[in-house]
Amino acid sequence: MHNKTLTVLGSVNVDHLIQVAHFPQPGETLLGHHYQLVYGGKGANQAVAATRLGAKVNFIACIGNDDVGRQIKQAFIQQGMNTEAISSIDGESTGIAMIQVAESGENSIVISAGANAHLTAQRVQSFTHIIQQSDALLMQLETPLEGICYAAKLAKTQGKQVILNPAPAQPLSDELLSQLTMITPNETEAEILTGINVVDYQSAVKAAQIFHQKGVEIVLITLGARGVFVSHQQQQEIIQGFSVQAKDTTAAGDTFNGALITALLEGKTLNEAIHFAQAAAAISVTRLGAQTSIPTRQETDDFLAERK
Ligand code: ADP
Repeated sequence: MHNKTLTVLGSVNVDHLIQVAHFPQPGETLLGHHYQLVYGGKGANQAVAATRLGAKVNFIACIGNDDVGRQIKQAFIQQGMNTEAISSIDGESTGIAMIQVAESGENSIVISAGANAHLTAQRVQSFTHIIQQSDALLMQLETPLEGICYAAKLAKTQGKQVILNPAPAQPLSDELLSQLTMITPNETEAEILTGINVVDYQSAVKAAQIFHQKGVEIVLITLGARGVFVSHQQQQEIIQGFSVQAKDTTAAGDTFNGALITALLEGKTLNEAIHFAQAAAAISVTRLGAQTSIPTRQETDDFLAERK
C-alpha cells in the first residue's frame, strides 16, 4: 500500500437550504418548506471526498468558535481526516450559505465567508510543516487569494504537486498559474480564465493551450455529463463519463477533484485516475446534497466493477 499524503486547503461552509415557490420580493415575507442544514464548502467537500475514498488527508481551514463549527470538525475526525490545521477563530462564525431553491429549479444564494476569510497568507505560513510533509496540495477559490498564492509557492518550491480547482472562478495572476501542476476548471470557469467559450473539443484545446503557455502542466476541463477533457504534453482527448440518473449535481466537481488526487497519489495513471474520479462523481450526482452525496471507496469500487 501507498502512504502518500494530501493536503487540502480551503473553505468550510454550512449550507442552509430552503425550498420556496418563488423568490421573495423586497419587503415580502414568504413561507418556505423542507429546510435542511447540510455541510458544504468546496474545500471541505474535497477533503471529505479524498478521505472517504481512502486518501490520507490534512485539511487546512478555518471554522468559527461556534457549535456548528465544532460539530463539523468532529464529523471530519470521525471520518479519519487530520484536523490539526483547522483553526477555530474567536469572535467569528463558521462560513454559511443561505440557499433558496425555487420551484423553477433556480437557486438564489447568499454567502457569508465568516471564518473562511481568516485563511490568510500569515495563517497558512503557520502550517508550513503540514505542506512540507505532504505529497500534493489541492485548493479551490473560496478562501483569500493571498493564502492560496502563498501555499502554492511554498508547495511548488518544495517539489510538491499543486492542483487548483478554480471555483468559483475569478481572474488569476500569471504568477499563481505558473506554480500549478494541474488545473481543473469546469467549462464556465475555463471561459472566465481564458476568454475561450468552451463548447467542443476544438475550443477546449484552445483554452488548454492558454493554461499551458502560462506554465500549467496538466489541464482537465470537466464537461458535466459529457465527461472530462484532458490535455498534457502530446495527449489531448475527451474521456467519457458514466451515464446515470442525475438527481442533484451539487459537489460533483468536488467529488471529482478529491477522487482524482486520491487515485494519483496511489500511483494510478492520469487516465485511470480520471476514470475512477468520474465514477465517484457519477455516484454523487445520483444523491442529494453536498457532503451527503459523496461515496465511499467501497461504493466506488463496486460501481466500477458493475460498469466494467
Ligand atoms: P462542477 O460541479 O464543478 O460544475 P461538472 O459539472 O463538470 O463540475 O462535473 C464534474 C464531473 O462529474 C464530470 O466531469 C463528470 O465526470 C461528473 N458528472 C457531472 N454531472 C454528471 C451527470 N449528470 N452524469 C454523470 N456524471 C456527471
